[in-house]
Amino acid sequence: MKIIAIGRNYQEHAKELNNPVPSKPVVFLKPDTALLKEGKAFFHPAFSNDIHYEVELIIKIGKEGKHIQPKFAKNYIESIGLGIDFTARDLQQECKEKGLPWEIAKAFDYSAPIGEFIPVNEINDLNNISFSLNKNNTRVQTGNSSEMIFNFETIITYVSQIFTLKKGDLIFTGTPAGVGKINIGDLFEGYINDRKMLSVPIK
Ligand code: ZN
Repeated sequence: MKIIAIGRNYQEHAKELNNPVPSKPVVFLKPDTALLKEGKAFFHPAFSNDIHYEVELIIKIGKEGKHIQPKFAKNYIESIGLGIDFTARDLQQECKEKGLPWEIAKAFDYSAPIGEFIPVNEINDLNNISFSLNKNNTRVQTGNSSEMIFNFETIITYVSQIFTLKKGDLIFTGTPAGVGKINIGDLFEGYINDRKMLSVPIK
């Protein structure tokens, strides 16, 4: 399986990092070794002093598809989940300044914790999903899929022109404002509406 991720998909987050609002989706990949399954701790690696949390809604793909038309895109969504796109902001800044690829900052081991998934047929409106992230019981990020610059259908249509989507692939759909540094000892807990979906202790 592969993990596709969308950057700068919320206006306020693009602004907080002084990035321009994109006219087409910003896309990057993480390998399957980036996955960190529900409940497991994240051990802070030594190569970065500034790893940020970015809570994101995740699309789990339910069947293989390529060149998917917008009107069929929804049929490829099996479920919606919540995850964190851990980002080594110091390394990313260096990559950006030098015009280099982002993998060392985005695709490292366990940089993609994922929680539970909700089957798509249990979700009333894909374009109105509220989600949030708590750090040590304080809310640090809130978002709603209605605020995405590129919605789920647009993302699926766009990325499937470039990559064949396969059952089990995950698409991280971007983070709202409020990102910040993680520290050893922190506990992150993610919610879709009021339902707890994710918990990641930092060790
Ligand atoms: Zn992200």
